Amino acid sequence: MAQKRLAILGSTGSIGTQALAIVDAHPQLFSVEILSAHSNAALLIEQAGKYQPNAVVVTDAKAYETVKQALSGSNVKVFEGHNALNEVVQWDTVDFVLGAIVGYAGLHSTLSAIEAGKTIGLANKETLVVAGELVMQKAAEKRVPIIPVDSEHSAIFQCLAGERMDTIEKIILTASGGPFLGKKPNFLVNVKKAHALQHPNWSMGAKISIDSATLMNKGLEMIEAKWLFGLQNEQIEVVIHPQSIVHSLVQFTDGSIKAQMGLPDMKLPIQYAMAFPQRIQNDFPRFQFKNYGTLTFEDPDIKTFRNLQLATQAMYKSGNMPCVLNAANEVVVNAFINNKVGFLEMSDIIEQTMEQLPFIEKPNMEELIASDTEARAYAEQLLQNNDY
Ligand code: NDP
Ligand code: MG
Repeated sequence: MAQKRLAILGSTGSIGTQALAIVDAHPQLFSVEILSAHSNAALLIEQAGKYQPNAVVVTDAKAYETVKQALSGSNVKVFEGHNALNEVVQWDTVDFVLGAIVGYAGLHSTLSAIEAGKTIGLANKETLVVAGELVMQKAAEKRVPIIPVDSEHSAIFQCLAGERMDTIEKIILTASGGPFLGKKPNFLVNVKKAHALQHPNWSMGAKISIDSATLMNKGLEMIEAKWLFGLQNEQIEVVIHPQSIVHSLVQFTDGSIKAQMGLPDMKLPIQYAMAFPQRIQNDFPRFQFKNYGTLTFEDPDIKTFRNLQLATQAMYKSGNMPCVLNAANEVVVNAFINNKVGFLEMSDIIEQTMEQLPFIEKPNMEELIASDTEARAYAEQLLQNNDY
């Protein structure tokens, strides 16, 4: 395999740092061309020293000044802001762009990379939730492969190798259920972020950890899967699988089901996306049946975990509704992390925002950007008015 030159967007995050660990293990296969971070100047400076990328991009103004100063004597170029991010991903020296920024903030750099024909490894699911139809259209037009990094979508992608897309009957996304599996509203009403951040199987960034606790993550993943694999809404199902060993399944038109399995470790789907279409050797711990006597599956409790229901509604409604859902969710998750809203109230605010915002059936990019802005403003206003 020729050496791939990587742009790792969000290199200071959970996915970004694990991607760099894969580079460490396979220096002959990967080199680092671009790194990006938002506020974690110290880690970005350390990464720049170690990997000597051509350039780093910092999106937070204060962190930019710190990084700029620290790297002033080095060969690493330092740029500020999202416009710079959109430019560097298009450089000729970039072969593969790993989209590992969290949230809506990752949308435009991914689109810009697609525009330039770069292969994408996509962790940033919010990109497809907000603008899946437009993003996939652009990718098809530019003949750009989008390789999923999200473990469920990587599982489905792997199950589909060698299969025809028109032989898919349905896909089944597995969900661990998060730290509050089996809990009821009378318990959830009092939970705080420290508890919500304690995921039983995965160690992830703060936003996705809260999304896992509310099951919004699975809702976002349904929408992500719809666009990524070109599915009808009815073809997408969710099952709770607390052990997180079966990462997702595809059922074909003859009733046969394929599953992809392994220990819950994001390094595996990250490595798969980075190396695709190759599979490369590694020394990650292996799954052993004897350590898992029972693998269990159950229906999600959508009455308690209303976010999954709201996301399903948004998926069926389509248009700008998933964008509105996502924006309201980013606002409430941020508020929850700052102890400004209760666990259950997050769903109330998302629901009210979805009811309030004007529906657009076929939004263009400008309309999606406007929907995102309006939904955020409305959700913020609800937070303030209700004094949660
Ligand atoms: P983290 O919060 O750990 O990292 C987020 C990264 O994005 C950091 O590098 C951060 O920079 C950067 N960032 C944050 N805000 C902005 C912004 N406004 N503009 C530009 N960059 C920004 O997140 P994760 O790594 O957990 O998740 C990244 C994406 O991958 C998410 O979309 C998530 O849903 C998805 N994903 C994550 C999984 C996981 O296991 N973590 C599993 C599956 C999907 P800084 O740290 O410098 O502030
Ligand atoms: Mg996932």
